[in-house]
Amino acid sequence: MQRAVFASNNAGKVAEVAEMLRPTGYTVVPQSEYLVPEAEETGLTFVENALIKARNACQYTSLPTIADDSGLEVDALQGEPGIHSARYAGEHGDDAANNSLLLAELAGIPEPQRTARFRCVMVYLRHAEDPAPLICQGVWEGRILEAPRGEAGFGYDPVFWVPGENCSAAELPPETKNRLSHRGQALGALLRALRGG
Ligand code: IMP
Repeated sequence: MQRAVFASNNAGKVAEVAEMLRPTGYTVVPQSEYLVPEAEETGLTFVENALIKARNACQYTSLPTIADDSGLEVDALQGEPGIHSARYAGEHGDDAANNSLLLAELAGIPEPQRTARFRCVMVYLRHAEDPAPLICQGVWEGRILEAPRGEAGFGYDPVFWVPGENCSAAELPPETKNRLSHRGQALGALLRALRGG
């Protein structure tokens, strides 16, 4: 891969992935530039949904494609919202509503039981019928705060406490988030796999 489509319409993700790839010589073009229609995420796992998104963009553009599927797993909610993270409160990508619902669901749960993690599966398809896609994962452990903090990032970042940094994910400088995050780890692993390492 020197140039690939990135199969996401999530502006936060697109910005993070473009920034992480900047020093590597690889470039991704967001699927919006090719007017790729949104794929229906009908899978039961992050892997299935990432492959659905990648295959959809590959079919539409005839170009190699990267896609990720990611979400937040909260232990006190038996792993929810998980693959439903983007539409937890109903409407796709309503971050404020998702965060409000999550905090309401966790009301009264003490700090030690508010453990959670972000998970990201990143896949690379050479073409739409690629029988051997590259599949890499990243996990970022943390806890859910009792109220939002910080303005950076997207999604659940304001309610995700990063223990090693003593702040929320939305209070981290973008380069620190990219170094630590589930997406940063998954993309790093994907780049190593693409280089054959
Ligand atoms: P996807 O586009 O189906 O992979 O949905 C991922 C959803 O998980 C996003 O809409 C966010 O709600 C959440 N999410 C994934 N990664 C992050 C992150 O880095 N920060 C905050 N929320 C995230």
